[in-house]
Amino acid sequence: MAEKVAVHKFGGTSLGSAERFVNAARLVQKAAAEGPVAVVASAMSGVTDRLIAAAVQAERGHQAASARVVAELRQRHVETAAEITRLAGGAVTFDGSILAELETALSGVALLRERTPRVADLISSFGERLSAPLLAATLSAMGCPARALDARAFMVTDDNHGSAKCDRKKSDPKIRRSLLGVLGKGMVPVVTGFIGRSPKGETTTLGRSGSDTTAALLGAAIGASAVVIWTDVDGVLTADPRIVPEARLLPQLSYREAAEMTYFGAKVLHFPAVLPAIAESIPLIIKNSFRPEVAGTTISSESLPGKGIRAISSMSGLCLISLDGRGMMGVPGIAARVFSAIARSGVSVMMFSQASSEQNIALVVPARDRDATVEALTQEFRLERMTGMIDGVLARPNIGVIAAVGEGMRGTPGIAARVFEAVAAAGVNVEVIAQGSSECNISFGIDEKDAPAAVRALHAVVTAA
Ligand code: ASP
Ligand code: MG
Repeated sequence: MAEKVAVHKFGGTSLGSAERFVNAARLVQKAAAEGPVAVVASAMSGVTDRLIAAAVQAERGHQAASARVVAELRQRHVETAAEITRLAGGAVTFDGSILAELETALSGVALLRERTPRVADLISSFGERLSAPLLAATLSAMGCPARALDARAFMVTDDNHGSAKCDRKKSDPKIRRSLLGVLGKGMVPVVTGFIGRSPKGETTTLGRSGSDTTAALLGAAIGASAVVIWTDVDGVLTADPRIVPEARLLPQLSYREAAEMTYFGAKVLHFPAVLPAIAESIPLIIKNSFRPEVAGTTISSESLPGKGIRAISSMSGLCLISLDGRGMMGVPGIAARVFSAIARSGVSVMMFSQASSEQNIALVVPARDRDATVEALTQEFRLERMTGMIDGVLARPNIGVIAAVGEGMRGTPGIAARVFEAVAAAGVNVEVIAQGSSECNISFGIDEKDAPAAVRALHAVVTAA
């Protein structure tokens, strides 16, 4: 196929009802008029959660409760199909025969009172296996021939059930063959997001929100023109609109800016999920399926020209851990020991800072990792604590981190001054500061109750720029 294919992924809310299916199909139809399109479908909103809940019920032996979930899912899909038929003007039937397999899996769990990762993945896979055929049927009924594809036919993963990783060497040629085969017949492939199969042939899932991963992997395998993520928000905004009502949509972001934004709390995109597409420099376009006329945010290797801060993100529920003491001065390897001790305990550090006096090292970690981090550092530095070289490990809860993000900050003097002036003017005390040497991000930790005030103060700086 000479022309590049665009991958369009629809999230759960974009497939939440019959109207949403028809709306999604219209958007695909429109895109298909401009060039070849491959589609990825998530489960209908809430379905994966219900499936997981059913598995948990079954494990507790509550077979009646898990059977009710199956009946409810069947009914929801049957009703949706009937309603789509009415709206789309062509017959859309729902084939519920695969639900027998779901029932068997759930009875197995109930019988053994054991929910292995393998069977949990099998059970979770049904949401997408129900929605993708429904979307393909909707498209066909609306005059856009489509075929549902079960990703387990070509998405080969490892056997790390629950968050399996795609084996691209094995998968890519299979993906190309399957998608291009369907496209070559003049049909739109509609692929089940989220699922794959292990080398042994067992059903796997790519982790929650894994349909984004599927879209990114398909895009990377076929060298897509773009991966369009249809969701229920307009795109990436200059700040969280719940904190800053006048936050603006960012029409364009670089990969790095988007990574910084999503790392520090912007929930639009689960960034690690889409790395395969980024590795191939494929643009990601976030669009609102409820307001398709809005341009959305395009994330690509290009950032907009312009100096200064582009966006503010924030995150709370964190904890500041600090290690103080004169004995760290001039002693090499302290930071390395801090990092390895924490890494061994499986905690990932959100932010790190060391004063140049070397008398203090500060880290920000998620609040839930507080005890593990304190324990790891206390153990690692027990000798230094005994000799008084290090005073101790302190943990300060209720920390929020604010990040000011923008490629244009690089090499522009005075940005940090403006950031901290604005925060000081808002009466917010800064506990810890970090700026990556990429200069694409200045982040700082504060008491989380001050986060809204700090975000609003900084957003005024963005708007003024
Ligand atoms: N249905 C899966 C989930 O809810 C995957 C996805 O929606 O992307 O996590
Ligand atoms: Mg979902």
